[in-house]
Amino acid sequence: MADLGRMSINQATTREQHSLAQAIAAYAQAGVPGISIWRDKLAECGLEEAVRMVRDHGLQVSGLCRAGQFPAVDAAARQACLDDNKNAVDQAAVLGADCLIVVAGGLPEGSKDLPGARLMIRDSLGALLPYARAAGVTLAIEPLHPMYAGDRCAINTLSQALDLCDELGAGVGVAVDVYHLWWDPILQAQIKRAGDRILAFHVCDWLVPTTDLLLDRGMMGDGVIDIPKIREWVDDTGYDGLIEVEIFSAENWWKRPGGEVIRTCQERFNKNV
Ligand code: ZN
Repeated sequence: MADLGRMSINQATTREQHSLAQAIAAYAQAGVPGISIWRDKLAECGLEEAVRMVRDHGLQVSGLCRAGQFPAVDAAARQACLDDNKNAVDQAAVLGADCLIVVAGGLPEGSKDLPGARLMIRDSLGALLPYARAAGVTLAIEPLHPMYAGDRCAINTLSQALDLCDELGAGVGVAVDVYHLWWDPILQAQIKRAGDRILAFHVCDWLVPTTDLLLDRGMMGDGVIDIPKIREWVDDTGYDGLIEVEIFSAENWWKRPGGEVIRTCQERFNKNV
C-alpha cells in the first residue's frame, strides 16, 4: 500500500500551472515530501534560489531532469553535449538530487543507424561518468518506450539499460518508469536483475486510447497499467526511495488548477500505487 511519505511529484506534472518556485511551495504546502526538477524551470528560477527554496521547504529532490541527448552529428556537437551534461551534473550536485535522470537521445539528424546511435550513447555515458562520480552524482538511465527511439531515446528496455550499467560500472543505475516499461514481457525479471541499481521509480498510467504519444499520460488508476504489481516487484528489490508521479497531460491535467492536480495525485497514490 502506498505511503504518502514516499511520494514525490515530478514538476512536469504541473508545468503549465507552476514556476519552480510555485511548485516547491505548493507541493510542500500539500505535504508532498519530494519534487523532481526540470532544468528549463531551474534556469528560470536560478540555481541558488532553487536550492534555498528546496531547503527552506524541507523537500527532497528525487531527481533532476535531465542529462543525455548524446547522439550527435559531429565532434563539435558531441563536445557541446558533453559540456551541457557536465553542467547538469554540477546542478544535480548542488541541489543534492537523488539522481540525475539520463534520457539518452535518439538518432542524430539524417541518420538511420540505430545501433550506431546506441554506441554513441554508451561512449558518451562513459565519457561523462568519471565527472559524475567525482561530483558524487549518480546517473539514472531511463529507458523510454520504443515509440521514442527515433527522436528521444534509443535505450528502450530495462534490459538494454542494465546491459549498459553492467558495462559502465559504478555510478550509474536505472530509472524505472511504468509508462515506458509496463508492456515488456520480461519486466519482472529485469527489475529483479536491477536490484540496488534502481535509482528512481516513476508512476502514471497508460490511457486507452492514447491521443498523443508524448503529452497524454494518465493519472494513476485511469489507465491499464497494473501499477501495484510493478510496485511490488520494485519493492522486492529493496528500493526504499521516493516514488515519483510524472504526468505530461496537455489536454487534461495541465488545464486544471494546480491544487486539484496535487490533491488528485495524493488520492490516487494512496489508492492505485
Ligand atoms: Zn519518467
